[in-house]
Amino acid sequence: MKNSKFILSMLCLFVYLQGYAQDRKNDIAPIYTKELKKIANKKKVKRAFEIIDAIDDQTIEDMIELTEVIAPPFKEAERALVFKKMIEAAGADKVWIDEIGNVLALRKGKTGKKLIGLDAHLDVVFPEGTDVNVRKVGDTLKAPGIGDDTRGLSMVIAVLKAFNKAEIVTNNDILFVGSVGEEGLGDLRGMKYLFNESDLKIDSWISIDGGSLGRINNAALGSKRYKVILTSKGGHSWGSFGLANPHHALGKAIDEFSAVASEFTKKGARTSFNIGVIGGGTSVNSIPFESWMEVDMRSVSAQRLDSIELLFKTSINKAVNDYNATDIKDKVTIEFKKIGDRPSGEISPSTPLIQRAMAATEFFGAKPRLTIGSTNASIPIALNIPAICIGRGGKGGGAHSLDEWFINENGAEAIKLAFLITLSEAEFAN
Ligand SMILES: [Zn+2]
Repeated sequence: MKNSKFILSMLCLFVYLQGYAQDRKNDIAPIYTKELKKIANKKKVKRAFEIIDAIDDQTIEDMIELTEVIAPPFKEAERALVFKKMIEAAGADKVWIDEIGNVLALRKGKTGKKLIGLDAHLDVVFPEGTDVNVRKVGDTLKAPGIGDDTRGLSMVIAVLKAFNKAEIVTNNDILFVGSVGEEGLGDLRGMKYLFNESDLKIDSWISIDGGSLGRINNAALGSKRYKVILTSKGGHSWGSFGLANPHHALGKAIDEFSAVASEFTKKGARTSFNIGVIGGGTSVNSIPFESWMEVDMRSVSAQRLDSIELLFKTSINKAVNDYNATDIKDKVTIEFKKIGDRPSGEISPSTPLIQRAMAATEFFGAKPRLTIGSTNASIPIALNIPAICIGRGGKGGGAHSLDEWFINENGAEAIKLAFLITLSEAEFAN
């Protein structure tokens, strides 16, 4: 009896401490609450909020126009040109398309000491030929890609217009960006180019993509993806019987990898693995010449992601070598093709950008939630450059499906939030 009471009180204490830790994580230092209120109450900033409301119908029109120009992965160029025209019309000091295909607009600040980025991604998951005409059903706008992330693109334009029309001068420079390659095999290539190859020195980054008002993604869920291809000569199932069979070897490889990976993922920072697709072979009476699988591994910890990648390679190699050491004729060979590489990391909640994002969210009456995800912000986050991904607002659903929809319910609030966070990072000058 006494014992169970003790356990119960320990449990309560544990639950309490868990809650405490959660609250602490989202603590906003009073100086940032003050700072954000002060900025939001400036005359020009209030004017910018009014402008965002006033141009809201046009923002929705922009979203519809952009949605109807499909931008499959690696084929964003046509939509990029439409976005570029819109951003040029909104006004910036310099607008250009970089080597990889990102559309960039630079709005210069007074000192230009720092460079702040605001982006949404141009690409959608849908292939060429998909019907992307926007249908209006009551308040609902329906089309593949309308929310993810075309809504974000229209928000970037609206934020730039608000800066210009309210004649706000910032200290720092701001880049307004439509980026390529966020989805799937695009593998964040637009961001990788900006942060690893371009000569821009970016100090903080705000991505708009997914989620409702209040979501602040400050941590990157890293992933590594591979296609493993096993090959041999192949032949007749009866006539060449005894010849190395890649399917047989793949079976052993899957068994070996899933056994060690299951053990590895049982404890420590959350890590996952999945064999998502397997294929190969021509007919039931042929020894296949090829057998392949696609594998996805994820972890919140960069170190554990490296570890499971190593386990993956060693276990596959071992299984195939073991298979080759049996009395089969000829050998099975292995090829590892990396088809995805997204880094892990986290920006501390005490960093000014995260504090400002949380304080700005509270200013609009929403509850800030810090989250982990795989977004464009992952690239700067992994480099320890302050970055977040914030929501597109409104109401929406069905992302990555043909039934995607969006309702502009309080949608302008999310634009004002994106504007306020960007302004706080860019520093209001006059
Ligand atoms: Zn997206």
